[in-house]
Amino acid sequence: MDDKALFTKLLRLQPPWYITEVVLDEAGTRVDIYIDHQKPVRFPCPICEQFCPVYDHAQEREFRHLNVCQVPAYLHVRVPRVTCSEHGVQQVTHGLAESNGTMTFEMESLILDIEQECSLESVSRLLTVDWHTCFSLQQRAVERGFSRKDSAIPERIGVDEKSFARGHKYETLVYNIDKGTVEYVCDDREQSSLTPYYRRFTAEQRATVRSISMDMWDPYIAATKQYIPDAESKIVFDRFHVMKYVVDAVDKVRKQENDSLKENGNDQLKGTKYLFLWNQENIPHWRREEFARLQAQDLKVCRAWAIKENIRHLWEYRYEGCMRKYFAQWYWWATHSRLEPIIKAAHTLKAHLANIVTYAKHQITNALGESLNAKVEKVKRLACGFRNRDHYRTAIYFHCGGLELYPKRSNVAFQIIGA
Ligand SMILES: [Zn+2]
Repeated sequence: MDDKALFTKLLRLQPPWYITEVVLDEAGTRVDIYIDHQKPVRFPCPICEQFCPVYDHAQEREFRHLNVCQVPAYLHVRVPRVTCSEHGVQQVTHGLAESNGTMTFEMESLILDIEQECSLESVSRLLTVDWHTCFSLQQRAVERGFSRKDSAIPERIGVDEKSFARGHKYETLVYNIDKGTVEYVCDDREQSSLTPYYRRFTAEQRATVRSISMDMWDPYIAATKQYIPDAESKIVFDRFHVMKYVVDAVDKVRKQENDSLKENGNDQLKGTKYLFLWNQENIPHWRREEFARLQAQDLKVCRAWAIKENIRHLWEYRYEGCMRKYFAQWYWWATHSRLEPIIKAAHTLKAHLANIVTYAKHQITNALGESLNAKVEKVKRLACGFRNRDHYRTAIYFHCGGLELYPKRSNVAFQIIGA
């Protein structure tokens, strides 16, 4: 088998294309493969798909292809242009790469494969492709994915905020809870962050939303009430976020108590922060004795902890009435605890109770997308702290958008004249 036949097979090159020459440079650092098409031939006009005669050929283009035995390969082709009686002179679809691409479909797909696993910096280093090219391929993959995605609004939506880079910058993420995908990412966590998402859809589409899980965060609530009909009965405050108010209150109680104990030379609460933040079943075995010892004493933080553990049962009820009844008992207990942070948290929960107990009907939390959450965190780690919001957003859509990212190779239609 000669080199042309070998590469025709390796490249899975289909007619009308054939290889005219394969050149390995002196130093063995690149393989150049020259491609031409059979003649005489007619190609379809890219607009109306009518077969038309070849008019001329565009300037030679070079496409980076996969490596051959670690040596980068490049395809060279002069793409034919046809004259269509209706559309004039048009360049034909050549099927080797995307029309504006500089890489073959295979090379682009390989880069996207590796981008799934590594940071852009690593991809750039491993494949000796510059960083900006890696990023623009990722960006293009996301655009391609969105162009293929159907425009329906999810029936069950999760709205979450994520801290971005260092400091107090936030991004708002909208999840499709059932598919476990990120649907939308935008700056900050204002009402204006969420409204553009809802406004992408018609009123009829928005009416199909059945439930929305979110934090007790007024701007999100306001945006949702403005755009989702009957939002009052559809918003469910996310269990994790609700619990966080109580957990933070326990931590405040511990801090205050630790400070006053330390003043009297007592440091028994030193190093106990997580003992009181963990759920009971998550306390490690080797610390359970220590925890039991603390509980045997009349500590404020132990009372706060018991109150926190009890509110967790709220989400076990399947009827709104039962949830309300359970909450009323808990609320009485919490507000009579004489623990200021706990009382404050109890008031916050009570003020938002109407959309905490909607859980009974809808049974949703953002944790349904828990694996999604882990993925988002992984994206943040992969990027070692994004400095640029655009890059961050693109990476989130790329890794968590559930998009069809890959370019599709297609064969070229052609007619041999006289065949
Ligand atoms: Zn045409």
